Amino acid sequence: MMPLRRFQMHQPRSVTEAAEMLAHYGEKGRLYAGGTELLLAMKHDLLRYEHLVDVKTVPGLNKIEIKNSSLCIGGTATHRAIEKSSLVGKHLPVIAEMARHVANVRVRGTGTLGGNLCFAEPHSDPATLLLALETRVQVQGRSKERTLTMDELITGAYETSLAEDELLTLVEIPIPAKSQRAAYLKFQIKERPTLGLALVMDVDEAGDAIRKARAVVGSVSPKPCRSDEAEALLVGAKKEVEKQLADAALALADAADPVDDLEGSTEYKRHLVGVFLRRAFNKALSTPA
Ligand SMILES: Cc1cc2nc3c(=O)[nH]c(=O)nc-3n(C[C@H](O)[C@H](O)[C@H](O)COP(=O)(O)OP(=O)(O)OC[C@H]3O[C@@H](n4cnc5c(N)ncnc54)[C@H](O)[C@@H]3O)c2cc1C
Repeated sequence: MMPLRRFQMHQPRSVTEAAEMLAHYGEKGRLYAGGTELLLAMKHDLLRYEHLVDVKTVPGLNKIEIKNSSLCIGGTATHRAIEKSSLVGKHLPVIAEMARHVANVRVRGTGTLGGNLCFAEPHSDPATLLLALETRVQVQGRSKERTLTMDELITGAYETSLAEDELLTLVEIPIPAKSQRAAYLKFQIKERPTLGLALVMDVDEAGDAIRKARAVVGSVSPKPCRSDEAEALLVGAKKEVEKQLADAALALADAADPVDDLEGSTEYKRHLVGVFLRRAFNKALSTPA
């Protein structure tokens, strides 16, 4: 590892000031949150910045609260704070459970949700689950604020649609109805997940039929992926859907088009999609979102 090149750290007191700093420093500057990705990449000389803008000094950006029937998580909330939050545990336990298994406790204590989503590293647990939960994020630049879906935010491996002066300020997750069930499962043998699979289903009162489903597979390709065909096969009488799970998994794997890499071959990952979709289906049916 290389010694870190010199850089200057800036401490904005508001989102607007942070956006102005980002615009001012342009390519020489970067937003800094927990630094768990950024500093590592800088130590390896993969990224070079002369100015880092510490978003954690902006007051209030780490809040976790309920507003307008949504769980609102500030961009600088750490994975650990999310894991430990009683609000998250009460309203969206599937998120608390996912956060508990991100990285290790040291990274969770420093790394933020905003940093995870905006780095857009393909092996992200939150990106996969949050897409299934129909999450929106608020981003703010010098002159305007935008609301984006997860699909609009993450455009590819290490790529987002954020402009140079924009920062992610809030993650808004609709609180699921009582009829919704959710599961997030991952398969991991190395430092980061080989596959993450999130399934959110709306079921009838008896639990015999699925009225709506969102299935997302992540970590196997550049960004988390859904498939209309797979989701159509996951709707209907439970017994029928059980028979269609293998076809739904094929459709989801086709849409994701897994890459062949050090985590495993394309065929191996396609197989994992089938195994984990079935497990997620069984788990989701017994777990409120
Ligand atoms: C050993 C290790 C294991 C890991 N395992 C997992 C795992 O199992 N699952 C998983 O999902 N992740 C894993 N991660 C990734 C981890 O979740 C991220 O490193 C962390 O969340 C990044 O947050 P940060 O605050 O440290 O971001 P930083 O490193 O500070 O920033 C990362 C990038 O995001 C940008 N950024 C940060 N905050 C914002 C914002 N609010 N708005 C706009 N841009 C912003 C920065 O400019 C930078 O480009 C692992 C990381 C490590 C080091």
